[in-house]
Amino acid sequence: MPQAVVHVILTIIALDLIRDYAIKKRKFIPLHYLFLGGIFGLLPDADIPVYWLAKNILGYEAVWFHRTITHSLLFPFAAILLAALAFSFARKKRLWLFFAVMAFGFSMHLLLDGILTGYIPLFYPFSEARFGINLLGRIGWPAIVEGLEAVILLIWLYDLDRRHRLRDYL
Ligand SMILES: [Zn+2]
Repeated sequence: MPQAVVHVILTIIALDLIRDYAIKKRKFIPLHYLFLGGIFGLLPDADIPVYWLAKNILGYEAVWFHRTITHSLLFPFAAILLAALAFSFARKKRLWLFFAVMAFGFSMHLLLDGILTGYIPLFYPFSEARFGINLLGRIGWPAIVEGLEAVILLIWLYDLDRRHRLRDYL
């Protein structure tokens, strides 16, 4: 995986840019939904601590299972389905947005993993075939990518300040 923090930060940045530049209604996606987006952007890698817990605490002889079902299209599709159901039937007005943000976070995770490192089983458990570009593996120079992440964060912070005068809150 790209570092966990990359999943969190890039998902939050993407959501923030969407609500400011695409939707243009900042209140449409409240701040805590961005936070949730960061959590969902990281969640597919929860298979790592689950494995660790199963092996080291529960003493279960687990075979290493990172990047299986949590890195398939099943999770984003399930979230999209829930969003559609909530949009059509839920009484709570914003429930569909919660699931939409969930779908977005999961999709961002797959996108980042698929583009940056290794290959992911998009159709697991129906197929073991893995897809990806493995950009970092090809470049073979992690420092460049870490630098790039830092630059993305800086540009976003600069833009955030330009849009909302971040400094007023510091
Ligand atoms: Zn991952």
